[in-house]
Amino acid sequence: MIIDILTIFPGFFEGPLRESILGKAIQEGLVKIRVHNLREFTEDRHRTVDDRPFGGGAGMVMKPEPIVRALESLQAEKPQPRIILLTPRGYLFNQVTARRWSLYDRIVLICGRYEGVDERVSFFVNEEISIGDYILSGGEAAAVVVVDALVRLIPGVLGNKESSETESFERGLIEYPQYTRPRSFRGYEVPEVLISGNHERVRKWRILQSLLLTRERRPDLFAKVILSREEKELLEKFDRFGATP
Ligand code: SAM
Repeated sequence: MIIDILTIFPGFFEGPLRESILGKAIQEGLVKIRVHNLREFTEDRHRTVDDRPFGGGAGMVMKPEPIVRALESLQAEKPQPRIILLTPRGYLFNQVTARRWSLYDRIVLICGRYEGVDERVSFFVNEEISIGDYILSGGEAAAVVVVDALVRLIPGVLGNKESSETESFERGLIEYPQYTRPRSFRGYEVPEVLISGNHERVRKWRILQSLLLTRERRPDLFAKVILSREEKELLEKFDRFGATP
C-alpha cells in the first residue's frame, strides 16, 4: 500500500513515521508513506497556500489550487488512489472504514489548516472524514490516527494475526479487560478465572466482559451488534442470576 499525505507541515510526521509499528512497517516495505509539502505545488514567489475568506470573517482558508495540483500529480501515477479529505464535517472514521481503506493499493490524505480548505476541493476528493467531534489545529494529527489504524491492518504488520482481529470494535464490541503480573497490585486482584487455567471459562468470561462493557459504555454500538446464541445466554445468566463464568 502507498499512502500519500498532503500537508503544509511535513515535519509533523517525522516522529510518528519513525517509531514503533509504523516505523517497522515502513522499514520492512509493507507500506510506503510519502509526505508532500503543499507549498511545492504553489506557483507564486511567496509559495502562498492560504487566503482570506470571501464574504469576510475570521482566519484564512486554504486555497484550492495547490491541493488540486498536488492531487493531479499523484493521479498521474497508477493505480488510481482513493482521495480522502480530513475535515471535522466528514463522516466519522471508525474500524469499519479503516478495514475498507486497508484494501486500497493507494490512499491520499489531505490535511487542512487554518479555517479549513476551500469548499471546491470537495469536488476532487472521494471521501471526507472526521476522526471525532472536536476541532484539531490541523489535519496532520488526524492523518497520523488514520495511518496508524490502517497500517496495523495490513497483513504482516502485526506479528500475530489474532491481535488485530480480536481487538475492540472489530465486531462492534469493546475488548474485554486485560491483566498482567503481578496478581495482586495495591490490593487489586486479578480475577480468579484468569488464573484458573480453565481456557473455556476464560473464553466465556472474556465474551461476557466485552458484552457488559459495550452495553454500559457504548449503547450505540451495542444496539447494532448481532449477538450469537452463546452471547445471549451468557448475558441472560448474568442479568437474571448475576452469574459470571
Ligand atoms: N473551521 C473549521 C470548522 O469549524 O469546521 C475547522 C478547521 S480546523 C482548525 C483545521 C483543519 O484541521 C481542518 O481543515 C481539518 O483538516 C483538520 N481537522 C480539525 N479537526 C478535525 C477532525 N475532527 N477530524 C479530521 N480533521 C480535522
